[in-house]
Amino acid sequence: MNVFSHPEFDNHEHLSFFCDPETGLKAIVAIHNTSRGPALGGCRMFPYATDEQALRDVLRLSRGMTYKSALANLDLGGGKSVIIGDPRKDKTDALMEAMGRHLESLGGRYIAAEDSGTSVPDLKVMGRHTRHVAGIATRTGFDGNPSNGDPSPATAYGTFIGLKAAVKHKLGRDNLNGLKVAIQGIGNVGFRLAKHLRDAGAELWVYDIHEDNLRRAVDQLGAKPAAAENILYLPVDVVAPCAMGAVLNDTSIPQLQAPIVAGAANNLLEHPEHDAMLRDRGILYAPDFAINAGGIIDVFYERTGATPEKVRAHVDTIGDTLTEIFTRSERSGRPTGAIANELAEERFRKHAPATGPGPQRFAHVG
Ligand code: NAD
Repeated sequence: MNVFSHPEFDNHEHLSFFCDPETGLKAIVAIHNTSRGPALGGCRMFPYATDEQALRDVLRLSRGMTYKSALANLDLGGGKSVIIGDPRKDKTDALMEAMGRHLESLGGRYIAAEDSGTSVPDLKVMGRHTRHVAGIATRTGFDGNPSNGDPSPATAYGTFIGLKAAVKHKLGRDNLNGLKVAIQGIGNVGFRLAKHLRDAGAELWVYDIHEDNLRRAVDQLGAKPAAAENILYLPVDVVAPCAMGAVLNDTSIPQLQAPIVAGAANNLLEHPEHDAMLRDRGILYAPDFAINAGGIIDVFYERTGATPEKVRAHVDTIGDTLTEIFTRSERSGRPTGAIANELAEERFRKHAPATGPGPQRFAHVG
């Protein structure tokens, strides 16, 4: 298995492989870039078939966090961790505690939050051995409601703000009344996004592989159920993928009928060049790492402390960032994903490289 010459390596600052035979923990922590601050990103637990798959995933996700946090103007770098194992079978408190000890040994250069396969209680177990976990504090959320640290409400709100910016840019509308939106995946983020849209007067179509999630949106929000095979291809104004990545690809893009794609799922483009394919079809694509940054913004302020109003105001800037991306794209003729990457790079390359994980530098998030 190649590391430094791995195709996804992209000059990562640090990689650590951690093994604890007593608990069965096998984990990788990847820190891509800390020029803006410590690397904050989720800890994913997944039954990777090979070590190579785990490495590839953690490298891609870690790099993505550098771009997401820089684009959101947060004093955070990018990092991610993966635990190799099945969260339904292999997860134990002892294993999570061992992960906590490993995180502590990194001295705060990386801070872990929830991701697929881990939850607030798991992070709290890791937190028995380290301060370097996030997304776990009970406090008043950005919306004035009680929060247990779950970033999904902020992600959904930020996606709503970003979707409105896309509608304004592409359709010239400020008002969402009667806007037709199809949402794929009505989970933590998708359902809350649907609620914001319903409250703004939008007409909704939804699909979820889990019947109970689908029913909840139909019964509680008056959404119309759609089928797996057509949710992305309905003749609506906006398609919002909020389930899994790589749904924008050679097969799906030619079949899209909506003029806008704006959803929260990570890594929506199967390959970077699908960005250009969307542009060529005249479809406005809101880059995923720009529109779904509400959660990382929320977790950042959990650590630094801020009023709910300040957190909300920062999440609101997602709309301005997207408008800037759309405008630059239109002016230059280059696709929105490429512009978003460029804007993020401007923001993290401008900062002097970190000299180390010294306590002064990271005190504000420690
Ligand atoms: P979730 O697991 O709560 O919801 C995902 C939903 O998608 C589930 O209801 C699931 O049943 C459904 N689903 C899975 N496969 C599907 C398919 N093929 N078709 C239709 N529905 C399907 O997850 P979430 O927290 O709502 O996150 C949704 C997406 O947003 C993920 O891609 C996640 O990485 C991304 N995201 C989430 C956050 C956050 O704060 N939760 C932040 C940034 C990005």
